[in-house]
Amino acid sequence: MKVLKFGGTSVGSVERMAHVGDLVAAASPCVVVLSAMSGTTNSLVEIAEYLYKGNVPGAQETVNALEAKYRRVVRDLLRGGAAQTAASATVDKVFAGIRAFFNEPFSEAAEKEILACGELLSTAIMHAHLTERGLRCSLLPALEFMRTLESGEPDMVHIASRLRRMMETAPETDIYLTQGYICRNAGGGIDNLRRGGSDYTASIVGAVLDAEEIQIWTDIDGMHNNDPRYVEATRPVANLNYEEAAELAYFGAKILHPSCVLPAKLHNIPVRLLNTLEPEAPGTIISNAEPCGTIKAIAAKDNITVLKIKSGRMLLAYGFLHKVFETFENHRTAIDMMATSEVGVSVSIDDDSRLTAIVDDLKHFGTVTVDRNMVIICVVGDLEWHNRGLQARVMEALGDIPVRMISYGGSNYNISVLVRADDKVKALRALSAHLFCGDAAGE
Ligand code: ASP
Ligand code: MG
Repeated sequence: MKVLKFGGTSVGSVERMAHVGDLVAAASPCVVVLSAMSGTTNSLVEIAEYLYKGNVPGAQETVNALEAKYRRVVRDLLRGGAAQTAASATVDKVFAGIRAFFNEPFSEAAEKEILACGELLSTAIMHAHLTERGLRCSLLPALEFMRTLESGEPDMVHIASRLRRMMETAPETDIYLTQGYICRNAGGGIDNLRRGGSDYTASIVGAVLDAEEIQIWTDIDGMHNNDPRYVEATRPVANLNYEEAAELAYFGAKILHPSCVLPAKLHNIPVRLLNTLEPEAPGTIISNAEPCGTIKAIAAKDNITVLKIKSGRMLLAYGFLHKVFETFENHRTAIDMMATSEVGVSVSIDDDSRLTAIVDDLKHFGTVTVDRNMVIICVVGDLEWHNRGLQARVMEALGDIPVRMISYGGSNYNISVLVRADDKVKALRALSAHLFCGDAAGE
């Protein structure tokens, strides 16, 4: 069985929802994971922000607008009374649930409940639509099987057994439909897998069901070999292996949630990125494919801060790096890139919310300097070190761009360079021109 996940824009309007209905009908039997309609989760975040601030009229206005939108979708997508009644019942319940928080002190748990509403709405409406089309569709509530452990990781054993049992109790089914993104935490409270987390749901579901394939449907024809917003004539990459895809997803290619790669990789299930607007296009397939000696794609990650810690004490000493890393760990801040020399170390972070405290602590060990507004440019492909010359081509392309940091050899799949944000577009274009022009780029 295949698992198909449709993102927010794929279900972003009545027309797009009906189109998803066509795609799902053609793919059945299958499991379908849906995001909220585009814009909904952002509106829910806004509602929660108003409620945190005690601004009930602000929340009320956003809730009213959102509810009106869903009433229109139910009216325009669904034809018959039964389907409209079923979907309207969910709309009633969800919006009454949100409004119930208006009269209580607001909490994080309440926020999580509000954030879960988008997927509850989109799946209820899609379920009504598919049923109305005569398809045998069962809605499997994610809140009844998707659970995380104390660590925040998915509880794969629980998910596998619950989901399988739920599927067994709905045997006359061709389409199993469920919500992306939402889950319960170890304490049993409603929670989520973080923004963009529906991809992760699809991958977890695919893994526990040992699916034939996990399909992530968006509105772009696969993972492109560079950022189409800045570089002309980018092309979809036909094949990536899991490591390459993970690097690209983490370092900027917004099409896939980075966490999504791991469950698929561990269970060796191919992930296919497909385009709802061009369903016949081959897209990108992510699998265990052998590396093929080429550079495949380039991505950029913005808003990077780099810290340099220089210390005479590092010379011939051990334990210095440990202290530096421990500082970041104490402040729960992840390091992306690093470069070391005998007298100093530079590390990059993207979450600078604890920067002042981190710098304060690092000053115990050395002289600290900070550069902000930097960008990591990540070049991905078969960069195993015996593949001569690939790193030289990357550096040649960046010939007249100042490079703050280089990281190569950490994995077989990536070279990362850190440049100023002002040089980002120039660097992306230079790399595409140098690495992909004239050959079968990205293949
Ligand atoms: N609806 C959630 C979000 O907007 C999850 C997702 O779409 O993947 O982040
Ligand atoms: Mg997404």
